Amino acid sequence: MKLLEDRIRQDGQVLGADVLKVDSFLNHQVDPDLMTALGEEFYRRFQGVPITKILTVESSGIAPALATGMAFHKPVVFARKHKSLTLKDHLYTAEVYSFTKKTANTIAIAEKFLTAADHVLVIDDFLANGQAVEGLLDIIQQAGATLEGVGVVIEKRFQKGRKLLDDRHIHTEALASIAAFENGQVVFSPDEKE
Ligand code: 5GP
Repeated sequence: MKLLEDRIRQDGQVLGADVLKVDSFLNHQVDPDLMTALGEEFYRRFQGVPITKILTVESSGIAPALATGMAFHKPVVFARKHKSLTLKDHLYTAEVYSFTKKTANTIAIAEKFLTAADHVLVIDDFLANGQAVEGLLDIIQQAGATLEGVGVVIEKRFQKGRKLLDDRHIHTEALASIAAFENGQVVFSPDEKE
């Protein structure tokens, strides 16, 4: 998606060997117009798929997931990373190793928000090694729901997440696909969808 690639070129910052910082528009400060465009693009790419619910993980998945939910007019559920007084029983849980924080987290979704009748589109900001998406797939399986696809705003093709999903024949869409970081610059894979 050219709009997103241009924004990454303009405002993204490569950190070390494998991290892209996009906190000025995606996961700290959020650009609402860009988010709206991303949601509409996910809608276009998954149009015709019978989606009943959008699923993501807090916190950085929420903005793109909400924009997608607004395009589909379907509810958005985000898995929580912290137990609270109001979220402690009747939960689906999964263990997720965080790529950016290098720690393991338990993510949880209340059983009442995901059922066997649901057809789920998973949305997240990044696909790196696929741990966050795997945790959500685990929860979808526990609920007996149907996974319809995975949409990520940015994928880093040089990490193993995309292969993991392709090997399982999961319909995956990435709005920006990064092939490599070279000398601190982002090299994109060709976008076949435009
Ligand atoms: P994975 O679970 O696929 O290894 O990593 C995905 C999660 O880690 C995303 O939810 C995202 O929050 C975070 N993440 C992975 N790679 C990056 C990156 O390059 N930059 C930022 N800002 N977050 C990342």
